[in-house]
Amino acid sequence: MGTAVGAVDNKETARSLADLNPSVVFVLGGPGSGKGTQCANIVKHFGYTHLSAGDLLRAERNSGSENGTMISNMIKEGQIVPAVVTIKLLERAMLESGNDKFLIDGFPRNEENRAAFEDVTKIVPSFVLYFDCSEEEMERRLLSRNQGREDDNVETIRKRFKVFLESTKKVLEYYNAQGKVRKIDAGRPIEEVFQSVKGIFGPKNEKAD
Ligand code: UDP
Ligand code: MG
Repeated sequence: MGTAVGAVDNKETARSLADLNPSVVFVLGGPGSGKGTQCANIVKHFGYTHLSAGDLLRAERNSGSENGTMISNMIKEGQIVPAVVTIKLLERAMLESGNDKFLIDGFPRNEENRAAFEDVTKIVPSFVLYFDCSEEEMERRLLSRNQGREDDNVETIRKRFKVFLESTKKVLEYYNAQGKVRKIDAGRPIEEVFQSVKGIFGPKNEKAD
């Protein structure tokens, strides 16, 4: 039966993720703060696997899954997809990667995401990288990046800013109270921001070329 098989699948996933015992860094910041760009640099220098929750959701939507329409509507409105959906995608991607070090980019976006992730995976992040950037600069970047994203229009961008302020900031406060937030001034050019990022990951962890 469909549900029984699903339940077994979930248990299997949980068990093997626990075996993997991965180290996870959450990468947060408003839309357009440079999370994806900097994650690509971190991957090259420090050997992490980059998992963008937004990219995983867009791929799931495009795959014609039963959740496709719901995901599509949420993204168009800048709303946050229920944790259960995003967490399944993240778990699957972690297990398929063959790595045990992950940058989870753009997640958790609200308290529901955060609590459910810790509950389901038992993973607590090593730290949270926070790209701090003004809305003016983020809006300028989003409107000039031309990635063909249907949520990169002024109307949806404003909604995404609002969701960031109202929901994601609470996640940052939660981890800040645990001393886990590493805040970066992300309003600068890419290379300068990356110098700060490097300082956080530590020169001793840098891969040889
Ligand atoms: N999204 C979501 N849950 C997540 C990550 C993304 O619901 O954990 C949705 C949400 O609608 C968001 C959109 O995907 O506005 C785009 O997210 P992405 O992280 O790609 O945007 P970015 O912040 O990088 O511009
Ligand atoms: Mg992104």
